[in-house]
Amino acid sequence: MDTRSLSPPSPSAGAGRYAPSPSGDLHLGNLRTAILAWALARRTGRSFHLRVEDLDRVQEGSEQRQLADLAALGLDWDGEVVRQSDRGVAHDAAIDRLVDRGLVFECYCTRREIQDAPSAPHAPPGAYPGTCRDLTSTQRTAGRARMRQLQREPALRLRAEVPEWTVEDLWAGTVTGAVDDLVLRRGDGVVAYNLAVVVDDAAAGVDQVTRADDLLSSAPRQAHLAHLLGLPEPGYAHVPLAVNTAGARLAKRDGAVTLRERRERGESVAEIVGRIGDSLGLPDCRTAADVLERWEPASLSPGSPASEPWVVDLPT
Ligand code: GLU
Repeated sequence: MDTRSLSPPSPSAGAGRYAPSPSGDLHLGNLRTAILAWALARRTGRSFHLRVEDLDRVQEGSEQRQLADLAALGLDWDGEVVRQSDRGVAHDAAIDRLVDRGLVFECYCTRREIQDAPSAPHAPPGAYPGTCRDLTSTQRTAGRARMRQLQREPALRLRAEVPEWTVEDLWAGTVTGAVDDLVLRRGDGVVAYNLAVVVDDAAAGVDQVTRADDLLSSAPRQAHLAHLLGLPEPGYAHVPLAVNTAGARLAKRDGAVTLRERRERGESVAEIVGRIGDSLGLPDCRTAADVLERWEPASLSPGSPASEPWVVDLPT
């Protein structure tokens, strides 16, 4: 292996990250993504950061358990763990910057209304139909009055000025995807994931975003948001999801799928890392360091084990 890549990260080398949502224990697919994010960052001389995406659906105690599980796997990270809930000032400043540029509008629609509205021609399914984009001031006053009745704030949406944007992904290659009038702040006042992820990754110097590929379609809109905010657009590495034997996304109901549950069934951490190594075509890994040493990100190509969904078939 190239030992240069294991020297301590230089501040200019960029950073990778893993950004779990503390909504429950991490399952094997999440742990595999975390190991890949860490290995990819370390192999490319980057620092590696952890960010807890705790804006929504937080389960008490979950963050501590997730961090303990990542440490048990042998992952290490640079600097303090960042919590999105501590980053409100930066999120507000980013929204203000977009407001100043005339790129934000208030949206008074309920979820139901958006679902039921006829979609604009050529718009992807489920896309915002543009209902509140160009309202008159009288219509906006009426919208705000209605929001007061419903005891919510208007959502804030991006006034998207391009239909699509292109990103580079280590696995998927050049990916062009839709940019829509995405929500920046929700009606309940909580900043939207798409805005928070862009602002927080940039603040941490992240130039390599590794995560599961269910978020691949969000990458173009996030990169576009970075562009609008004058922030560097990161590169991406979307890792295929873990699935159960029926081909559905791995979930808690699939049985003993978390580190703790596997250990309760008598498996050691080394055996669990071994399963993850096997899924990458690297037999006999016992530690995350083995994966780091033996996994060759540059050799990835369509058809390689890490570029396929991982079918998790566990003894019960
Ligand atoms: N928090 C998200 C998750 O746990 C990942 C978001 C991201 O990496 O951008 O699936």
